[in-house]
Amino acid sequence: MKSYMVKRYSSIEAYVPGEQPRDLDYVKLNTNESPFPPSPKAAEILGGGEAENLKLYPDPEGKDLRDAIAKRFDVKRENVLLGNGSDEILAFAFFAFCAGEKCVFPDISYGFYKVFAELVGAEYKEIPLGSDFKINVADYENAGATVVIANPNAPTGLALTADEVERIVKTNPDNIVVIDEAYVDFGAESAVPLTKKYDNLVVVQTYSKSRSLAGARLGFAIASSGVIDDMNKIKYSLNPYNINRLTLKIGKASIEDEAYFLMTTSKIVENRIYTTEELRRRGFYVLDSKTNFVFARSAAVPGEKLYLELKRRGVLVRHFSADRIKDFVRITIGTREQTDVLLAKTDEILKEANNG
Ligand code: PMP
Repeated sequence: MKSYMVKRYSSIEAYVPGEQPRDLDYVKLNTNESPFPPSPKAAEILGGGEAENLKLYPDPEGKDLRDAIAKRFDVKRENVLLGNGSDEILAFAFFAFCAGEKCVFPDISYGFYKVFAELVGAEYKEIPLGSDFKINVADYENAGATVVIANPNAPTGLALTADEVERIVKTNPDNIVVIDEAYVDFGAESAVPLTKKYDNLVVVQTYSKSRSLAGARLGFAIASSGVIDDMNKIKYSLNPYNINRLTLKIGKASIEDEAYFLMTTSKIVENRIYTTEELRRRGFYVLDSKTNFVFARSAAVPGEKLYLELKRRGVLVRHFSADRIKDFVRITIGTREQTDVLLAKTDEILKEANNG
């Protein structure tokens, strides 16, 4: 068929989300969701009176939720922007700060950065991680470009300290530095406090991982009010009612339930330590993750084979085909029971590999 798409976009390689199969009841450890349900306080909203109100548009400013987020992070409402998932926040940031301009990000990181950069026609450069898969902070000092970094990084799971992030922000006063903290709640240091000191810093977080709400689609940015206004300009030019009524309420109830958040995130951290030790005992090379996933390479089974063999046995993990990381699999930290299934199936595969 003839393509009607404008040339500018037809060559874009769109982001490919992790598989969300419906055919089998997999032990699903491939897209870094939480194994725990959302806070019961958030779930209560669904049984309440809000369904009736769905006939009305939501608050385009999301004031109540922004106030709750501002309170949690000790900032003001004008420092908070809401997005339909943090992917949308990242899109706003790329439109606002990178369109037609220079931006840089690591060569191994969240695959969406490159897609957004292409979409907005940015002149982008992918900076190689070190051979140890670490981000070299000096590579981003005085970058002369917008800087986008996932901290902790994905899929490596490795984190920079807040001091290292500050060095990058401080040395780029004429450019925005976007720190994507999708996984920060599992043990890394957040850069949110630095937003009070630096106007050029945008911190992005999500409800999808540590707050068990991937399906509700909610993310947010924290930054100086001028920078939030700039991103708001993009939001109001694309989709002013970007957060639906139910999600606005669920998001507020969830962020106010700190006890549940602490309980579920600490369980995941505990299980990450267990998973890492058990994989290492089985001869895996496992990076030191500060996230809700581990990035691991088997000495005996190549990454793609391990992914396929696990899938055949009902366990889904994520494999990336990029050259530097094709020997690895990324495994989401689920419950202890899910990890034990993963380990049992891994043992079967390793045994077969050793016998063959
Ligand atoms: N940033 C990173 C580093 C991620 O891994 C993800 C999850 N795919 C996102 C952002 C986007 O998450 P969401 O849109 O669900 O908030």
